[in-house]
Amino acid sequence: MTPEELAHSYLLSFWDGMLPVNPIRIANALSIQVFQDENLQSCNRSGEYRPGVISFNPHHHKNRIRFTVAHELGHHAFNHGPAAREDHSFSYSYKEQQANEFAAALIMPHEAITRLLTEGITSFSELSERFGVSPRAMEIRLERLGYL
Ligand SMILES: [Zn+2]
Repeated sequence: MTPEELAHSYLLSFWDGMLPVNPIRIANALSIQVFQDENLQSCNRSGEYRPGVISFNPHHHKNRIRFTVAHELGHHAFNHGPAAREDHSFSYSYKEQQANEFAAALIMPHEAITRLLTEGITSFSELSERFGVSPRAMEIRLERLGYL
């Protein structure tokens, strides 16, 4: 399955339909525990995934935390196993890319974007506010879906 398809199936099964999407609720629905981890700040990391557990850096902005948790959930969805941050091999980059695409598709659901655009909401700032993401993340997502 592509990241888009996998995220779609997660949304169908575990999303309550509310915006912004709360990836912590989705993780909890999958019996994955989500924790704040102060230690991530000192090693300059956003989050971490181990089977059954996601942790995130509580010092980051809530929108970044939303993306991080969704990203780590992507590692779970693709069965990547614990991520080795130091490893910059091709396969690692590929896994990171899969997790990022999954995260974008999960927190900016295609159907919700289509609905808002249909309602005439087209400004980056308003869309990014609805989805709880940065305007840049919103722009990349709209590009990928062919709206730009
Ligand atoms: Zn990752």
